Amino acid sequence: MAEMFDVVVIGSGPGGYFAAIRCAQKGMTTAIVEKAEIGGTCLNRGCIPSKTLLASAEVILQAKSAAAMGVDIPTVTPNWGKIQQRKDAIVAGFRKGLTGLIQANKIKIFNGTGIVTSAKMVTVEPEKIQLEVSKGIIIATGSIPIEIPAFPFDGKTIISSNEALNLQSIPASMVVVGGGIIGCELACAYAAAGTKVTIVEALERIINTEDKWVSQLMERELKKLGIGVMTNQKVTAVDSSGAMAKVILQSGQNIEAEKVLVAVGRRAVCDKQTVDNLGLKMNGSVIEVDKKMQTNVAGVYAIGDAVGTTYLAHGAFAEAEVVAGNLAGGNTEMGDYSLIPQAVYTFPEIASVGKSEQMCADEGIEITVGRGFFRGNGRSLAHNETAGEIRVIRDKANDKILGVTMVGANVTEFIAAGRLIIGTKEKFGEVSFPHPSVSEVVKEAWEDAFGMSVHQPPK
Ligand code: FAD
Repeated sequence: MAEMFDVVVIGSGPGGYFAAIRCAQKGMTTAIVEKAEIGGTCLNRGCIPSKTLLASAEVILQAKSAAAMGVDIPTVTPNWGKIQQRKDAIVAGFRKGLTGLIQANKIKIFNGTGIVTSAKMVTVEPEKIQLEVSKGIIIATGSIPIEIPAFPFDGKTIISSNEALNLQSIPASMVVVGGGIIGCELACAYAAAGTKVTIVEALERIINTEDKWVSQLMERELKKLGIGVMTNQKVTAVDSSGAMAKVILQSGQNIEAEKVLVAVGRRAVCDKQTVDNLGLKMNGSVIEVDKKMQTNVAGVYAIGDAVGTTYLAHGAFAEAEVVAGNLAGGNTEMGDYSLIPQAVYTFPEIASVGKSEQMCADEGIEITVGRGFFRGNGRSLAHNETAGEIRVIRDKANDKILGVTMVGANVTEFIAAGRLIIGTKEKFGEVSFPHPSVSEVVKEAWEDAFGMSVHQPPK
């Protein structure tokens, strides 16, 4: 006999667990089906382990540059075993906490693969438990790393981010194929630990999801960390038969490396049986949804990486919120995706929200760009973290703020403040920023967008 629920969620990553908890909070009986670990990619193979490794990497870099701040640290030696243990402990602790939180919300967890057999029924494999659904099914099945057919993952030498987060020792050398967000973050973590890292990017610039100035600034900063950056360059083959992999470039050049990390993006996943049973409308590997996050099948929703919109955990949260609102009888829709901040945890960090300068140019919008610099900020100088700048984009026609882009230490912590001024004119005028604080640079750039920066010379 089938168990009955108002809502069944497939997948327990940021999209799945958030949607399930919100539905439970709104009074719906809810179940989660998860075939692997609770927490999905983000908690187990993504955001949290990568940021934990990067946090240790940051300490290494700070210790190495301590002399500049008057503190002599004669030798700095990363203890990679302890770094990995700490990361594993944080992930395990978080997973336990999240599992408890899900259960505390009276959500039933089924361990197994969820196959949707109809808009009202989910089967949990391999036990073939039947779950009958009265209100809605939410598919939050996430994504996996994209493999390059010419040199597929072998899990040892040619690796994805999954293995890169779990290496048992610091490799002497690593080629990172792909200069996007994940590639650059992991390049920073390993370069700080002492690996000789080379990023090979096929496009003309790394981090091509941001404006050109960001890519240029980041390339300079990565090079300061000792990371080699090759752009307009494709890896055509990898020979992993020897002790060291031979990475063969389109130019004919070869690079030897202990590890080859392929970080060229992620592919949405959804079980084929579910797609076939429902006749789900797909766009390649991605499930098509409307603004309510509903698929072409009434009552079946999809969110997160499975719909290929943001490939961000907080993008999945936002979509989960919309679905829970609709299932609770509301009429909620996803708004402008550009208002979901981008965050890149490199050294220095990158964060952006709203329109970029390039988007404005493409749309023919006349803008003024205000700039604020960390090198002119007291707290940044005190911390010896002066790389980067913040840019605020103002619409010349109506004075409204269109976008904010930040590069600098810890900027991911204050991009939400950038979001608050999008679409406004005077908002920051009434906000007092503590002095001295790194966040003052946001206000500085905002003032500059109106030609009113107090701490920059008149132009
Ligand atoms: P996922 O987190 O992928 O979860 C999907 C879950 O569904 C998985 O647990 C899977 O086992 C399960 N599943 C799949 N099919 C089935 C089935 N049929 N039955 C049962 N269970 C199933 N994003 C950020 O916002 N910030 C970051 O700093 C960040 N860092 C990242 C670093 C790395 C190295 C990586 C790889 C990703 C990072 N991301 C980051 C992206 C983020 O992890 C994803 O966007 C997010 O996890 C997507 O959430 P999701 O719920 O859609 O899917």
